[in-house]
Amino acid sequence: MSKIILTGDRPTGRLHLGHYVGSLRRRVELQNQGGFDKIFIMIADAQALTDNADNPEKVRQNIIQVALDYLSAGLDPGKVNIFIQSMVPQLTELTFYYMNLVTVQRLQRNPTVKQEIKLRGFSETDDGSDNKAGTPVGFFCYPISQAADITAFKATTVPVGEDQEPMLEQCREIVRKFNATYGETLVEPEILLPENAACLRLPGTDGKAKMSKSLGNCIYLSDSEEEVNRKVRGMFTDPGHLQVSDPGKVEGNPVFTYLDAFSRPEHFERYASCFVGKKASFSFKNLDEAKAQYRAGGLGDIMLKNFLSAVLNETLEPIRQRRAELEKDIPGVWDILRKGTEEAVKAAQATLDDVRKSMRIDYFNDSTLIGR
Ligand code: ATP
Ligand code: MG
Repeated sequence: MSKIILTGDRPTGRLHLGHYVGSLRRRVELQNQGGFDKIFIMIADAQALTDNADNPEKVRQNIIQVALDYLSAGLDPGKVNIFIQSMVPQLTELTFYYMNLVTVQRLQRNPTVKQEIKLRGFSETDDGSDNKAGTPVGFFCYPISQAADITAFKATTVPVGEDQEPMLEQCREIVRKFNATYGETLVEPEILLPENAACLRLPGTDGKAKMSKSLGNCIYLSDSEEEVNRKVRGMFTDPGHLQVSDPGKVEGNPVFTYLDAFSRPEHFERYASCFVGKKASFSFKNLDEAKAQYRAGGLGDIMLKNFLSAVLNETLEPIRQRRAELEKDIPGVWDILRKGTEEAVKAAQATLDDVRKSMRIDYFNDSTLIGR
């Protein structure tokens, strides 16, 4: 069986560090290792519209931003197909059939949907006075549409962050139900979570559980060095760590979570001597030592944040440089999306043909029905 990847992002804003460690960095590695037959990367504009129906311009404008982030992070259009979801109408048709295989009650139990409904402030009652009051049906059903996205490409592997686990489980259930009802047709995908625990769900700069475009607590891949420094300086740490000499908490401290996600041994060698302050010196050689020193007291937040800024800026600098180059040829980026979308349409159509055949709704190709 072919090994195929499908994954993607909603064009609701530029991509941030959470996307990078949760999925994007992994995609680039997988692309370069060459162990997959095909890699499809989807810009999920139709999904983004499910909670942005009143602001299609936001989604429209962010398609190119996400594409630029992809390419500058290292996705290579020679090795992956980047495509726009709504330009592949086969996905909508698959969603329509899968909707019959999922109950309203099962969708209501999906913990990510529950959490996102709460986050977006959709109320449980809707008296008709405000059309944004309740949950849009399209939003409620997006896990089904996501199952269509994954199965349309017969994806075996879906590299995503931890919040997507319930979506993958729901998709696998749909595949099993479809295959049991209509015969073996669809492929059950596996989730590929980040190996590093800090990357499963990167917290926001405000210390909230998830860095998320909708929460405004992000460091973007396209942020300038100054913006990164400013955001890191303003980061939540341990509120009890007032004096440098006070013992500090490492657990739940996002500065350490970011260091867990981004720092490498060479960063300690490279930047160790840069941040020797008047009172405190930067005496640790690796992250474990830094944690121990912070816990014991004696390592200041400013010092630690300066180190984090250096690590992040080193990681982001090549991405920024590639972005600056790509921004000079926006029509060229649209050409990449057009080509990727053409490939996606072909692959999704082949699956849709299989699906219609299995469901026996391919009427005009069915000689037993037509009689010739
Ligand atoms: P929105 O607020 O519009 O939902 P988002 O910031 O949650 O945006 P998505 O486009 O929904 O981003 O997520 C795309 C991918 O990035 C998914 O695989 C998701 O798991 C991953 N991801 C998003 N945020 C994080 C994070 N903070 N940590 C790890 N992975 C993340
Ligand atoms: Mg999201």
